[in-house]
Amino acid sequence: MSKNNFDICYPSKGGKHYVAAQLLPTDRPAQYTWHTRAGALQFRYRYAIMPKGLMSRLIVRLSEYIERLEETEIVWRKGAILRIPVNNSVCRVMMVEDEDSKSGLKQIVVEVMEDNDLRPNRKYALQLVRDEVESLHRRWFRNIQFEQIIPCNCRQCRIRETPFTFELSELQRLTKGMAFCNILEDFVPVIQLLEGVYKEDEIRAFAFGADLVTGLSRKWNCPEYRTSISILKTNRVLR
Ligand SMILES: [Zn+2]
Repeated sequence: MSKNNFDICYPSKGGKHYVAAQLLPTDRPAQYTWHTRAGALQFRYRYAIMPKGLMSRLIVRLSEYIERLEETEIVWRKGAILRIPVNNSVCRVMMVEDEDSKSGLKQIVVEVMEDNDLRPNRKYALQLVRDEVESLHRRWFRNIQFEQIIPCNCRQCRIRETPFTFELSELQRLTKGMAFCNILEDFVPVIQLLEGVYKEDEIRAFAFGADLVTGLSRKWNCPEYRTSISILKTNRVLR
């Protein structure tokens, strides 16, 4: 059995029946507590107008990764907990639809934790989710307007429950390659922020100021950096 072509339902874990994502319970299952946000990689898509059905389609697309505890799938109408093995560790992802408290705009919040203390793979689990969100945008919601919100990863924000955040479009307007973090009260290199979330080819595709691009090219052409990136790529084996 496989997911249907309309991103509406997915086969249950036992494979005996299909689950319609729009008919999932509204309440989040109590069995799983997302106990802490400190140390989680936090990313958001924020929408001018969030189209109906985006989250339920995302749940269908990622249904094979839904966490299961005591025979219960940890999924509800507005979100899910995913268990994504990456390389030798396991990442857990919480994806949930909610509202930004300041702007009131709807958003998809994605948080990733990893059972490896060095947390080298969170970005790749996030990428799996981002790829599906963006594929859904392309397939069903062509003219959708959205902003990507990325967390600051300076030495202070990295360990905070609520890191300072940047809008990607705001970073794209900067011309000197440095962004100001209000928590650190200092500048953080834009490349460091982007690398916390995106792949190299994605960063290259963003339209950034000439200074930043020159800085990036210099870095990417440095042999030491290229070796570390190719090791990461080789190691990236999703199940
Ligand atoms: Zn910061």
